[in-house]
Formats: sequence, structure tokens, C-alpha cells
Amino acid sequence: MIVAIDGPAASGKSTAAIGVAKALNITHIDTGAMYRAVTFGLIKNQINFKNVEAVEAYLNTLELKFSIKEKNTTLKLDNTDITEKIRSNKINKNVSEVSAIKIVREFMVKIQREMAKGTDCILEGRDIGTVVFPNADYKFFITANEKSRAERRLMDLVSVGDKKVSELDVVLDELRVRDYKDSMRDYSPLKKAEDALIIDTTHLTINKVVEKIVNIVNQKRTLV
Ligand code: C5P
Repeated sequence: MIVAIDGPAASGKSTAAIGVAKALNITHIDTGAMYRAVTFGLIKNQINFKNVEAVEAYLNTLELKFSIKEKNTTLKLDNTDITEKIRSNKINKNVSEVSAIKIVREFMVKIQREMAKGTDCILEGRDIGTVVFPNADYKFFITANEKSRAERRLMDLVSVGDKKVSELDVVLDELRVRDYKDSMRDYSPLKKAEDALIIDTTHLTINKVVEKIVNIVNQKRTLV
């Protein structure tokens, strides 16, 4: 079983996907974390994003770095856990440029399909229902209004020390820029799959979002 969750930045996809994975006892794959990890590695190794050959060579060294552990995607780079580091503002600002590179996308999609092979899982990202798994059993497009998305992202950034609570407008602008870049890129842009169900999380608690998705999955499952 494949559950696809797509949506813009800070829409609540990750929290929802983690909750659904727990409730249904299936594997959670955070594809955004993968693009973030590559961005982190390229910056760390001072590789110019525009140098396609260098980017490709770097990707090949990454091949076995993504693994599923305890039903979560664990990201290690050079044996260092980078799960927290990839949430920084620097990565937020650069990830859209990296994720727009064709070979990066091809590489990631291949890994994501391999990771999901033979397992029941929920994948979250921007192109899961449109490109990675166009035949997914369940497709959701999670969204929320800009203000609440910015408020949520601000809280994340304040907690890692990258922003002050007074910087809501800055965060809002950065979210807009990232969503614009993700939606306008040539390869697999952020887009709702035609057959995806929209869930607006603006006025919903996380428990409600999880409950909604789980109910839909269970309802459809019993009908089959
Ligand atoms: O979901 P998250 O905000 O962590 O994703 C970080 C970035 O990774 C997105 O802004 C986008 O540029 C990229 N991404 C993507 N395709 C996916 C998942 C994420 O291009 N399936």
C-alpha cells in the first residue's frame, strides 16, 4: 500500500505523515529530508550547484546513505547524523535550487521507489502523487493558509536558534519564495495530483488531520 502526501512548505505534511504512519503501522518516508540532505552535503563540500558533473559525482557517493530505521527515514552523512542540521534556514534557502536539478530528481525518485518496494508506506513530498507514485493507493494534498504555515515554520526556526519570534514577515516571504520556486521548476513541480484529496489543515489539530486520513484509508481498504 502506498499513501502519497504532497503539499507546500510547512503545511503540516510531516507531522501528519508521521502520525498516520504510526496509526497504520506503516513506514514513513520523508522525501523532503532527502533533498535537504543532498543540499547540506553539496554546501559542506563546497560543490557548485550549477556544476552538473560535480553534483552527479557527489550523488554517487551518497548511494547508501539513506536508510529506513525503526520505520523512519534516517539520514547520515559521513556517519554523522544530520537529521537536525538539515532543518536550518540555510538549507531552507538553498534546497529549492538543488531539488530543481534534473539528475538530483532522477536519483531521488529511483531511491524512493526502491525504499518503498514491497513495503506499506506513506511518502511525503511535492511530487509523490504526480511523479514518484502516480498509481498510489491513496493521495492527499495537504495545505494551510500562508499565515499559519509561516507561524509553524517560525516556531521550528526559533527552536533551532535561526530566527527570532519577531521575524514572522521574513519567514512568510521565505516560504513564498520557496513555494514559488518549487511550483515553477521544469521537472516535477509542486502540484496537486488530479485525483488527490485536499486537506486544509489551517483550522485542524494534528490529531484531526491524522484521524481524517486514517479514516479515509481504512474506509477504502474495507471496501476493496
Ligand atoms: O518537505 P520539505 O519542506 O522538507 O522539503 C524541502 C524541499 O525539498 C522543498 O522545498 C522542495 O524544494 C524539495 N522537495 C522536492 N520534492 C519532494 C520533496 C521535497 O522537490 N518530493
